[in-house]
Amino acid sequence: MSKFLSERYKDLLPYVPGEQPQDMQYVKLNTNESPFPPSPYAQRLAREAAGDLQLYPDPECKQLREIAADKFGVDIDEIVFTNGSDEALCFALMAFCGKETPVVFADVTYGFYPIAANLTKVSFETKPLKDDYSIDVEDYLSVGKTIIIANPNAPTGMLMPVQDIERIVVSNKNNVVIVDEAYIDYGGQSVLPLIKKYDNLLVCRTFSKSRSLAGGRLGFVVGNKALIADLNTVRNSFNPYNINRMTMAAGIGALIDEEYFEKNCATIIKNREFTVQELKRLGFEVLDSEANFVFAKNKKISGKDLYLSLKKKGVLVRYFDKDRLREFVRITIGAKEQMRALIEALEELL
Ligand code: PMP
Repeated sequence: MSKFLSERYKDLLPYVPGEQPQDMQYVKLNTNESPFPPSPYAQRLAREAAGDLQLYPDPECKQLREIAADKFGVDIDEIVFTNGSDEALCFALMAFCGKETPVVFADVTYGFYPIAANLTKVSFETKPLKDDYSIDVEDYLSVGKTIIIANPNAPTGMLMPVQDIERIVVSNKNNVVIVDEAYIDYGGQSVLPLIKKYDNLLVCRTFSKSRSLAGGRLGFVVGNKALIADLNTVRNSFNPYNINRMTMAAGIGALIDEEYFEKNCATIIKNREFTVQELKRLGFEVLDSEANFVFAKNKKISGKDLYLSLKKKGVLVRYFDKDRLREFVRITIGAKEQMRALIEALEELL
């Protein structure tokens, strides 16, 4: 730390992303990326856009918004694009929360929420998950605070039914409810259509998983026009050019190439079923996942030892050194060969 760092940030503990090792080729199942490259059409549009990089991108993201609005059945003013959904979460905290207006989320959820809250000087409260690792809806009824719910939740992969989220939205009419649907395309039902019914619902999505664009950094938020206008006020005060030309073009391609997207989601769901079945055969307990990852534990070995032993065998998974999570590892669902490699490594280990 330099002597110049502002008092504001002296206590900040930044997010530690999953490893992106460069030393060797791993079977990489640790950061919930897609094992498939971006759609060939998205790649082509991105390459073409590279030729215009001397120009600033469209700060309004008009074409991308039009295509997305059409796809998701919303108005163009009900959608805003962000540099990954992490940026969207920060914008939402800046826009709707503060020291006196806290945000509430689960104690076991996406680790970026408390970090973004610290950065934006927003106070937060956590609600413990139930013993079965599900979110207790009752905890979020009439809380009178901004709420973030990851659905499916991370790192558990467990899904909350739409009706439960609707109850939360209805009972917190004077507060914004942010539903982070980063993993919704792997079998879950989205609450997105409800933005037409409720003016306090924001749905956050990403292109990092099901649309194979983690490296492009593209996310978006859908909600009532007034909420989106507020997010745009923050966005335009921070970085109006938050989506670069190549990413914008790739995003357009990824949305248009629906067939590629659907095929890949279906493959991941099939590979998840295979992986869960194999893990159970090997004595693992696996939480019910509707995401592109599973959260699993085995009585014979701790999460940390499993992570370390798998790493030695060239398979990377994610381990969380946190209460209630230590016994588990989170395994991204990749291509079939990757999942076979994981199972073979586990067979040797156990
Ligand atoms: N939400 C959840 C629940 C996530 O797991 C992630 C990915 N780490 C994100 C949001 C952020 O994704 P991105 O910034 O790549 O869009």
